[in-house]
Amino acid sequence: MDILFATNNPHKREEAQAILGPRFHVVTPASKGLPGDLPETCDTLRGNSIQKACAVWNHFQQDCFADDTGLEIDALGGAPGVHTARYAGEDKDPAANRRRVLRELEGLPFEKRSARFRCVVALIEDGALQVFEGTCEGHIALQESEGVQGFGYDSIFVPIGLDVTLAEISIEEKNQLSHRGKAMRMLQCHLLQNHG
Ligand code: IMP
Repeated sequence: MDILFATNNPHKREEAQAILGPRFHVVTPASKGLPGDLPETCDTLRGNSIQKACAVWNHFQQDCFADDTGLEIDALGGAPGVHTARYAGEDKDPAANRRRVLRELEGLPFEKRSARFRCVVALIEDGALQVFEGTCEGHIALQESEGVQGFGYDSIFVPIGLDVTLAEISIEEKNQLSHRGKAMRMLQCHLLQNHG
């Protein structure tokens, strides 16, 4: 069955499809004629994920889910947090975001660069809301890796248990341990119970 993911980020769609498996075909608003950014003006990840899901539900009147992700860096008091997408400016430039993080942590040893990704997934099904959350603990790398997998902050994030960044592992390996992987496996369980 088709399941509508309220994102126009192709990387997120690909990760979600790999997790949800062949039982579900993940479609995006852009593929149904609604391109561009969705609103995310709340001051929490939960609020933003619900806001994005509601925007798409209101437009298509169709069950859908959205996610919102934040990077929390302990040495920066939990920043960028809900401001992760726009950390270096309104144009949401991922390379500039990564540079800002590395600049702000300059001189700090690896063990003091602890951080986590937090992902909140909001599902609207038959007008009812369900929320799932996943986290991935790790550290911010001393420098950007040359890995080309993934997106966003992946090339500067080293998950606990690995000595490479998320940009150096396959999408399947990332999904096993990532914030989005954890939240979306809960979503998958829920969907399989209702539509399995
Ligand atoms: P949003 O959830 O699309 O609002 O993403 C917030 C910010 O986190 C953006 O800068 C994304 O590029 C980044 N981001 C979201 N998910 C991931 C991920 O799985 N890895 C690395 N960066 C991510």
